[in-house]
Amino acid sequence: MRLKTLELVGFKSFAQKTVLDFTSGITAVVGPNGSGKSNIIDALRWILGEREAKNIRGARAEDLIFAGTPQRPRSGMAQATIVFDNSDHFFPVDYNEVSVTRKLAREGTSEYLLNEAPVRLKDIIDFFAQARLGTKGLTIVNQGNSDIFVKADPKERRVMVEEVLGLRQFQLKKHEAERKLFNTKINLDKVRAMLDEIMPHLRLLRRQASKWEKQADVEKELRQLEEQYFGGRLFEITKDFQGLEPQIEKVNQESGIKNQELKQLNAELQKVEKSLPAGRQAAQKKLQLQGFLNKKSLLQKEIGRLEAQIEFLSSQPKSDIKGAEAIRLLEEVRQTLQKAAVENDLGILKTALRGLAEKIERLLASGTEDRGGKIKELEKTKTKILADLAAIDGELAELAKTEDKLAENLRGFNAVFKKAFEAAEAKKDEIQKLENEKNKLLFDKERVSIHRQELENLAMQSGRRLKEFEALRPGLGQSPQDFAEIEKRMFKLRAELAGIGELDPALIKEAQETEGRYNFLSGQMADLDKASEDLTVLIKDLDEKIHAEFEGAFKSINEQFDRYFKLMFDGGKAHLKLIKDEPKSQPTSEEVVEEPVEDAADEDLGHKVDHGGLEVSVSIPRKKISGLDMLSGGERSLVSIAALFALISVSPPPFLVLDEVDAALDERNARRFADLIKDFAKKTQFLLVTHNRATMEVAEILYGITMGDDGTSRVLSLKLE
Ligand code: ATP
Repeated sequence: MRLKTLELVGFKSFAQKTVLDFTSGITAVVGPNGSGKSNIIDALRWILGEREAKNIRGARAEDLIFAGTPQRPRSGMAQATIVFDNSDHFFPVDYNEVSVTRKLAREGTSEYLLNEAPVRLKDIIDFFAQARLGTKGLTIVNQGNSDIFVKADPKERRVMVEEVLGLRQFQLKKHEAERKLFNTKINLDKVRAMLDEIMPHLRLLRRQASKWEKQADVEKELRQLEEQYFGGRLFEITKDFQGLEPQIEKVNQESGIKNQELKQLNAELQKVEKSLPAGRQAAQKKLQLQGFLNKKSLLQKEIGRLEAQIEFLSSQPKSDIKGAEAIRLLEEVRQTLQKAAVENDLGILKTALRGLAEKIERLLASGTEDRGGKIKELEKTKTKILADLAAIDGELAELAKTEDKLAENLRGFNAVFKKAFEAAEAKKDEIQKLENEKNKLLFDKERVSIHRQELENLAMQSGRRLKEFEALRPGLGQSPQDFAEIEKRMFKLRAELAGIGELDPALIKEAQETEGRYNFLSGQMADLDKASEDLTVLIKDLDEKIHAEFEGAFKSINEQFDRYFKLMFDGGKAHLKLIKDEPKSQPTSEEVVEEPVEDAADEDLGHKVDHGGLEVSVSIPRKKISGLDMLSGGERSLVSIAALFALISVSPPPFLVLDEVDAALDERNARRFADLIKDFAKKTQFLLVTHNRATMEVAEILYGITMGDDGTSRVLSLKLE
């Protein structure tokens, strides 16, 4: 890493843009008093992050901006840029060139740019600390500060050493970690206090909440049981219902068919009934039969009378035959025949009988006939009547035959009728049976729907509707005992719920919120605890590192200090002593800020918690001195220079800026100083402001600064071989 250029615009007396090249190992800046040499040093210090106005010789920030002269107006802004060659990547960034710019506007706004990107002051300080550069040590020794190491207090000396050793960066980190730890502890206390505050209330709420949680559990179980119970039972009922429907349907169908069949059977029966032999025919036949029988008996009686007449006539002389009697008898026959004729349509008989009666009359009227004739006549009549009788018997036989046939027909009819009648009756029985079956099924259906209604009522008592369970397909069916068990359990849970009582939504909300707050705070507390632990470990690690590196370098520094002292004073002795610091003081709360604020002096916090300070003890040849105060100005400078050289010999910084450090040296010491600078220039770049010839002689580049007529500084460069 090498310092390449410094560019100034509007900075103090450098009103116009001025660029200084530092390509060599030693650059000397020379010029008359008041020409602006120290302003260049101020600019470097300012870029390195100086925050104290007095260190850059200004009362206020705006003193850094060119104030104007009668010849030239003032500038609105001061700007300084330093450019480093970083091809060796001394700075841990990827760029081969690193530029750092600081700007300050008259309105007070200031800006830092690292390779033209805006950064914070803190970043700049950290950036340079890693490169062992800073404003606290010996990187830049201001004019009049050549005895700085002597006049510093032990702690300041230690900081100077740390800066050169590159430990500042760890100190800064440690300091930041401590600040964070302090903040963390404050926050931890706050969080703890808040937790303590909510705890009693939270416990109360938790107790209540646990009850409600239980309620939720109970409700959940109850819901599940209800589903199991109502779902299960409804499923069964529905199944029963669905089982009945097709049965009823089937019976209905069957019954329909059977009714149809019955209708057919009835029609057949009617047909059979109609086929019954006519009753009238039978009655007629019966009447006919009766007529024949009457006639037969009349004829038989008549025959008996005729026989008796014939008997009488045969036994009586012919003259004695009483004609009157015969007439009377004949009359009687005639009357009988007439009477018979009324009721009998046997025309033949009637006619025959009438003929007979006429013949008997004629016989009687003649009176001349003999009784033998008459008997003959009667005999003939008798024969005729007998023949009629025989005819009637034939008729009767015929009638009896017809009757038999009729009876036979009736028997056949009866058989057919009985069969048809029985078939119809059987069908009626079957239909009746189906009806019974159907009624039974309807009864079952009714019973099932009553069950469903009962179940609905039960569900409603639980504030549910059966509809809710319709979609459920419960697992394998429960037995009635299972249902009884579930019912019991549901009853118990309902009683339990009633015991828990009403929920208070506001309290639940509060419990949730408080629990949320508790969780948040606990989380915060855990985070803070963890952070505090991490920070403590980090601080301890950094402490150990700083301590170890410091201790490691300290011995060499002391040896070198003694060596350079002896060189400067031609003998004598010098020694640095590490003294223990007072116990660590905690930063005060005002000092606790997350980010260092520009121009705040809080960075000083860092060394308040150091391991201690450095005391200087010297003994000069041929002199007896008891303290540093007794040294002359030149001696003080020499001690300081010996310390500076001791430090840079142990840990060479990339560059050093020394403003008239050699001012108080006599010629011999100035020569020694110049020789040593030349030697150190192998490792460290030097920018020296000097009025000293010897020093100028070792410089490779010489810049002459003059103050122009317009009151601004100008640079003349003079390269020396
Ligand atoms: P010496 O050799 O005496 O130490 P020097 O060369 O170091 O002098 P400086 O102290 O750098 O001189 O410069 C001082 C000059 O800068 C003064 O003339 C002062 O007026 C001028 N100066 C300082 N601040 C400003 C500013 N803000 N605007 C204009 N000029 C300024």
